[in-house]
Amino acid sequence: MSRKEKIQRAAQRTAGEAREAAKRQRDSERLARERRNFATTAHRHCSVCWTPIPLDEEPPICSDAECAEKQQKRESSRKRLTVMLYLFPGIAILLVMLQVLGASG
Ligand SMILES: [Zn+2]
Repeated sequence: MSRKEKIQRAAQRTAGEAREAAKRQRDSERLARERRNFATTAHRHCSVCWTPIPLDEEPPICSDAECAEKQQKRESSRKRLTVMLYLFPGIAILLVMLQVLGASG
């Protein structure tokens, strides 16, 4: 490789790096701008896929049928959990009370 070629290569590489840096800079500026635009409009996210949806959307899911189904499942399992959360201690207390009553009576 001649000296001239070496210099040419180095120059090309540097130009390429400069282009890359400029592109990165542009990308980050664009991202920041988009983020700012996004922050100005009030919105919420689909609780399944996190797609931005209108603020008054209720239940908080997008129009995707799959998300609706998942949300439904999640909701019913949450309800079941809540029921168990009250039911099991209730049964435990009942058993203890029965035992206390049985011992005293
Ligand atoms: Zn969704």
